[in-house]
Amino acid sequence: MNGRQKAIRAIAGLQPVAQRNDYVRKPLTELYGENVFNLAVMRKSLPKKTFDALVRTIEHGERLDPAHADVIANGMKDWAVARGATHYTHWFQPMTGSTAEKHDAFLAYTSDGRAINEFSGKFLIQGEPDASSFPSGGIRATFEARGYTAWDPTSPAFLLENGTGRTLCIPTAFCSWTGEALDEKTPLLRSLEAVNRQALRLLHLLGNTTARRVTTTVGPEQEYFLVDRRFYWLRPDLINAGRTLFGARPPKGQEMEDHYFGSIRPRILAFMTDVEAECYRLGIPVKTRHNEVSPAQFELAPIFERGNLATDHNMLVMETMRIVAGRHGLHCLLHEKPFAGVNGSGKHNNWSMTDDTGNNLLDPGQTPEENAQFIVFLTSVIRAVNQGGAVLRASIASAANDHRLGANEAPPAIISVYLGEHLSKVVADLIAGTKGAKRDASHIDIGVSALPSLPKDASDRNRTSPFAFTGNKFEFRAVGASQAIARPNTFLNTIVADAMQGMADEIERETAGGKEILAAIQKVVTSTLAANQRVIFDGDNYSKEWHAEAEKRGLPNLRNTVDALEVLADPKVKDLFRRQEVFTDGEIASRRTIYLENYVKTVTIEASISSAIARTQILPAALKYQRFLGETSQVAKSAAAAKIIAPVDEWSVKLADALTRLDAARTDADATHGDVSAHARACRDKVLPAMDAVREAADALERIVDDELWPLPKYREMLFVY
Ligand code: ADP
Ligand code: MG
Repeated sequence: MNGRQKAIRAIAGLQPVAQRNDYVRKPLTELYGENVFNLAVMRKSLPKKTFDALVRTIEHGERLDPAHADVIANGMKDWAVARGATHYTHWFQPMTGSTAEKHDAFLAYTSDGRAINEFSGKFLIQGEPDASSFPSGGIRATFEARGYTAWDPTSPAFLLENGTGRTLCIPTAFCSWTGEALDEKTPLLRSLEAVNRQALRLLHLLGNTTARRVTTTVGPEQEYFLVDRRFYWLRPDLINAGRTLFGARPPKGQEMEDHYFGSIRPRILAFMTDVEAECYRLGIPVKTRHNEVSPAQFELAPIFERGNLATDHNMLVMETMRIVAGRHGLHCLLHEKPFAGVNGSGKHNNWSMTDDTGNNLLDPGQTPEENAQFIVFLTSVIRAVNQGGAVLRASIASAANDHRLGANEAPPAIISVYLGEHLSKVVADLIAGTKGAKRDASHIDIGVSALPSLPKDASDRNRTSPFAFTGNKFEFRAVGASQAIARPNTFLNTIVADAMQGMADEIERETAGGKEILAAIQKVVTSTLAANQRVIFDGDNYSKEWHAEAEKRGLPNLRNTVDALEVLADPKVKDLFRRQEVFTDGEIASRRTIYLENYVKTVTIEASISSAIARTQILPAALKYQRFLGETSQVAKSAAAAKIIAPVDEWSVKLADALTRLDAARTDADATHGDVSAHARACRDKVLPAMDAVREAADALERIVDDELWPLPKYREMLFVY
């Protein structure tokens, strides 16, 4: 029996892992948030003055008086220690796409030789990890390697349990000593400030005097694959690249459409239940679970939360899924395209804005005021996506996502806005300056001068749109499954803040010129819609016609990461980020470098594994088979063996030749080292196509070589045997 067959035999005998939590003995309501130092815990454990100050920071963005820090630190420590924590860590999100932690014990010694648990405000507020081994894109000179982490009080501290110990995790931002952001969190927080500033201006212009703070709300729907660990360990490409670099299409893929929303297999359900329990304990409101389109593909969706918290929580969800999968003998693949030929995984980023009274700014609402508000913010988003479509495209650019975008399963690289039939009509009517359809029960009267009435429910579904309005929020669908959502949200917040600023400026200019406020709003809304309507598209985004149409409309179509990241070098884009105080020119330049480097590293690693697997696993298998056929034809005089040996030899020759070309492509690419743009282009134009050729020959061999000899678990096994 070969390794694959052993794996299959072991899997066949498996039972689902027993559920860890018994919801009868410990109900969800008790489990939920038990590992979070949340407001409820703080209310109980902190003095009222301190608690109130912290709430003002969290809810209204007020600066926290450092005098409170010692008290909070102490409360946090007591809470954590009582739950078995021995260490604390500043938990941050460097530009590696994952989170980072360096643990320190609470432990301190007394002069008489005893140990005590110690934690002060100083340690809560600031940490000093060595920044030299994190990507900085050239910002941080090595002689100034120090970075510091700063407590983010808007995201609660939590306890992380990993098998043996418990650690208090304090969400932080990570900066250089000169104040440049070295992480994903800092710019996200800055972009949220920008949204707050500009949305409040618009709200005030709309006559809202109660809102004091606006933030985004985000609900990221997480898609993922699960494969059995036994297969995973036999696939060096999955281990090192997170995706299969080889694998012939299985006889059955997703064409039967029998997996989507299908009944969930017991072993998978056990995994999901376990993940959910861990998430509940961390106060992550996970809500939905289901089978996705591809076999072995699934989805988890939480209830939306404030943008900052949702970002932290999504990092924890991904981490939790990876860890829990191991307990179930599974491996969780978050890669955007782990298997060719079936759907890849995305992360629909549901996004809206809300004020501190719970008023969703993108909710059409019931009253004329709410509808005016809705139209103003909707118009801002349309303007943002039209003017900043390329920025949005750049925000989701990665080597992995390139395999998914535009592949007739995910939105294309052209960023457009879907509004649905009713809302599109409203927009068209607004532009035309006409009053909408006649008022009937299904229409809400907006009541403001010439604004038309709005349909109550405009949430038609169009799964092909990269940026769709779905009732009271937008859904940014081009985000990749493995991506931290900080970057797409930072970029999205920034372009929306900028559009809102433009609208507010224009409205103020109109009123300064003597126009009455509603008339001013009306004028700016209609002119903005007219100027930006090219970005609205309700049709099939997968169609060829749309590509042609989009080009006519002048919408950018940045087909790959290398093209998309060029956007970040555009002076206008630098101005945008500077204007909204999200990135300095240096920071944005460094990010472009880091993202390009990441692309180069990803492709380089893939090329290297591809070459290793083909040379040391696939070719030997093919040659063994060929030898077997040769002997069978000569010794046993088998006519059949003589007949089928030719294609094995042909494809083996093709594979060997393709490998030689891959080596050459890699050498060419390496020669551009030092110029990251050129290096990325070489990876895209030379290395990736050379890898494709290697794969083509290898996959052809998989179809004809003796199954006994084939070393790599096959698609038909990984996607169906679990
Ligand atoms: P689907 O798009 O799969 O039909 P839903 O529309 O019910 O599902 O919701 C998908 C996600 O959108 C969920 O995470 C949900 O919490 C989130 N969501 C709902 N309302 C908002 C909002 N106002 N802001 C951000 N996310 C939201
Ligand atoms: Mg959705």
